[in-house]
Amino acid sequence: GAQLGLLGGGQLGRMFSEAAARMGYHVVVLEPHAPSPAGEVSSAQIAEGYSSEKGLDELAGRVLAVTTEFENVPAASLRRLAEAGVITAPHADAVAATQDRNVEKAFIESAGVPTAPHKAVRSLEDVEALEDSLFPGILKTARLGYDGKGQARVSSREEALAAWEKFGRTDCVLEKRLNLKTEVSVIICRNPQGDTVVFPVCENHHRNGILAYTVMPARIDAELAQRAQQFARQIADELKYVGVLCVELFVLEDGSVLANELAPRPHNSGHATIEACATSQYEEQVRAMTGLPLGDTTQIAPAVMLNLLGDLWFDENDSKTTPPWEKLLALPGVKLHLYGKEEARHARKMGHVTVLGRTLDEALARAHEAARLLGLSFSHELAQ
Ligand code: ATP
Ligand code: MG
Ligand code: MG
Repeated sequence: GAQLGLLGGGQLGRMFSEAAARMGYHVVVLEPHAPSPAGEVSSAQIAEGYSSEKGLDELAGRVLAVTTEFENVPAASLRRLAEAGVITAPHADAVAATQDRNVEKAFIESAGVPTAPHKAVRSLEDVEALEDSLFPGILKTARLGYDGKGQARVSSREEALAAWEKFGRTDCVLEKRLNLKTEVSVIICRNPQGDTVVFPVCENHHRNGILAYTVMPARIDAELAQRAQQFARQIADELKYVGVLCVELFVLEDGSVLANELAPRPHNSGHATIEACATSQYEEQVRAMTGLPLGDTTQIAPAVMLNLLGDLWFDENDSKTTPPWEKLLALPGVKLHLYGKEEARHARKMGHVTVLGRTLDEALARAHEAARLLGLSFSHELAQ
């Protein structure tokens, strides 16, 4: 059968490969980093690993099209693959635009979509020129941040300077800290002809900077949901994007909707699309890169997705334990996904649970029960 290439070997790639296999494709994965028992490898080191010309040229010789599941694959690697005649979805320029928060925000704004007030911080002069109105703010490194890493809350220019020094004077952006009513995301898929399909809006809840759970569809007004989806279309068109793109958005108390950031790939908040939608985000990625018609994104069951972090594998004495899978799987509507990672570490994404219901209330009630069983700290939030 035909072969597809994938840059990155994490859980998003695993779920992409499952969708591809079901549709008759074999997936060749380029993953330069074997799991390192020595501990965390930095994002920068991982990104560097995708630059091997030998690895890329070998991949180019074997596959029809390439996609990515790791957002920091160097754009030059995608460009090299495209020059070798491989379809790359997304293309290098779109990925490059999402890899620098300052460039990304400029693209979002040129698409006519609002963002949080912000200013690029690339020099000492930039820090000194920051307006008072941006404080209290969040200083974010322009590149390689994820799960809230590379961010500092700052309430003055002095604190902004100290944080910028701590980040090694790398390019940053200072964003005004906003009062968020709700965080949502919109996953969109765009094909080379410019057709798009958009998933129902996801409502996202974070703990310690990491996605904890997602409610789908989001509990927001239909008008707000349509606006969020329209923003995603504008951004995907502005980037001439091909493939699956996630747009993270903030909903403020006054009803305004702002784009926060983009992920040029399927997204953690869209895991529930596997069971809850007629076509999953992973299948859409396969369809877009192979030139097949985009799929129907209609939601067929309300859903709540719970992330399973490594913390669940440790008891109160920090000893290794096994989460109570039997009790969990005895609940109706529960689908367990474990990513097969060798070693559990605190805050590491080990798996997720999708909980379905006939109504959203039923899905929430079941998710509450599942979260309580697992001992998730936020379980009370799911109580009706
Ligand atoms: P991800 O893991 O989603 O890639 P990230 O590290 O790239 O995250 P952001 O999404 O920019 O970082 O921020 C992480 C979280 O911090 C957001 O989901 C939101 O809860 C909060 N946050 C970020 N920017 C702001 C802001 N300007 N005002 C208020 N809260 C914010
Ligand atoms: Mg991010
Ligand atoms: Mg984010």
